[in-house]
Amino acid sequence: MTEPALSSVERLAEVRAAVDRAAEDAGRDPASVTLVAVSKTFDAPDIAPVLEAGHRVFGENRVQEAKVKWPELRERFGGVELHLIGPLQTNKVRDALQLFDVIETVDRESLAAEIAKEMKKLGRSPALYVQVNTGEEEQKAGIPPKEADAFLARCRDVHGLPITGLMCIPPADEPPSPHFALLAKIAARNGIGILSMGMSADFEEAIQLGATHVRVGSAIFGRRG
Ligand SMILES: *Cc1c(COP(=O)(O)O)cnc(C)c1O
Repeated sequence: MTEPALSSVERLAEVRAAVDRAAEDAGRDPASVTLVAVSKTFDAPDIAPVLEAGHRVFGENRVQEAKVKWPELRERFGGVELHLIGPLQTNKVRDALQLFDVIETVDRESLAAEIAKEMKKLGRSPALYVQVNTGEEEQKAGIPPKEADAFLARCRDVHGLPITGLMCIPPADEPPSPHFALLAKIAARNGIGILSMGMSADFEEAIQLGATHVRVGSAIFGRRG
């Protein structure tokens, strides 16, 4: 996967094959793992070949950037499923609801309230995941693991938000598997079926531990500039 001559479409095929192998190794159906191609920082001309190859599920981390690239790509390619995987500011909720099919980063009560309010106004209801800060890192977004159960209950009972998934980004300097296992445990005890975990460096471990969505950027698109 370090071969510089490979195109993004060839790397996509390699990553998909590796995802399938990891699923089979874990005794899982490869179709149970969705590959979210993380296209952040890449422009529409870099993304189009991957769409032409038939891939439809993408991740972006900034609302503003997605707003520039995706409306036009959606016009050219039907059936796109776009995931927001970066932090969401309250004042960008309306744009996010209009742009994204999945918001993976619900991480605080004020955001949940704003999403609920705007969903009613706009009549749009993207799938919602809660981001859990499994490493309890100061600088990282996400609900602390100890507060996750209560937060999920409040999303449901106070804000009427159906949370269908959990997402995490393990600390860069630690083995990721304990974080994936922790996320899986929180999901299981809350009856949540979707686990968004694993990136270019560790998606195989994540699949081993139950990931239903892996978010892979550089292994497909190459290094970000
Ligand atoms: C950038 C990013 C990814 C993809 O990272 P790679 O290491 O390039 O695969 C996955 N998840 C989130 C939240 C990201 O911001």
